[in-house]
Amino acid sequence: MKYCRFLLDDAIHYGTLEERGGELWIARASPAPAEDMEYRLALEQNDAIRFDFEPMPLSAAHLLPPVTPSKIVCVGRNYREHARELGNEAPAEPILFFKPPSALLRPGGTILLPALAQRVDFEGELALVIGRRTRRFPHGGNWRNVVRGLTLANDVSARDLQKKDGQWTRAKGFDTFCPVGPMVSDELDLDAGLKLETRLNGELRQTGSTRDFIFAAPELLSAITAVMTLEAGDLVLTGTPAGVGPLAPGDRIEVSMAGLGTLMNFVQAG
Ligand code: MG
Repeated sequence: MKYCRFLLDDAIHYGTLEERGGELWIARASPAPAEDMEYRLALEQNDAIRFDFEPMPLSAAHLLPPVTPSKIVCVGRNYREHARELGNEAPAEPILFFKPPSALLRPGGTILLPALAQRVDFEGELALVIGRRTRRFPHGGNWRNVVRGLTLANDVSARDLQKKDGQWTRAKGFDTFCPVGPMVSDELDLDAGLKLETRLNGELRQTGSTRDFIFAAPELLSAITAVMTLEAGDLVLTGTPAGVGPLAPGDRIEVSMAGLGTLMNFVQAG
């Protein structure tokens, strides 16, 4: 199942996606309930809540971030080549940090480069969408038991502030620094080696495979939930491959994976 979250007649809706003639369409849709995060179960189990909706191409929809996380947990240096390019050793255990939900940016939205930062980098990443409240995920557990699906994200980072501050709250936390989407899918197999690509103004800049993870999804879930409870709808950004680079006003940045589409955002001075 693939789904998206979008604006229709100024109200938030969820839609399930189907392929029609080689293109993805929003085939069914329902208004979002107040408890946004628990929505998927209702979508699957309750035909009665569907309303009269004229299917539309995904490309024509005003998309929103497909998730409403209570927190966004990120993993630093989870690909060996990226750790190397920043002059770091591969970590012995996952490096965890947060991005605030206020940093979320919709697909097609504009990343704002803050005047406080001299250098702001893109970091294309695969993200796990948590499907149920999880504490103390067992070592070697099955990620499918707690992950609702996968989506794409961009861990936009003010590199100079990251180095200067000694912790990453400012560097990772500006408004618009967490583009997410365009859809959530439970049809991909993390263990199969999923290929992530990032393009800056159409030029391929990052390529990575989930096979290159230093810590695979079960290890990440185990490390995070040893500390904090993950809630349904929370996001785990799994780290970025080598090839990060700076963004400039006027840029177009795209993160792609087969089966998850392309997360495209523009860049402006903010
Ligand atoms: Mg990152």
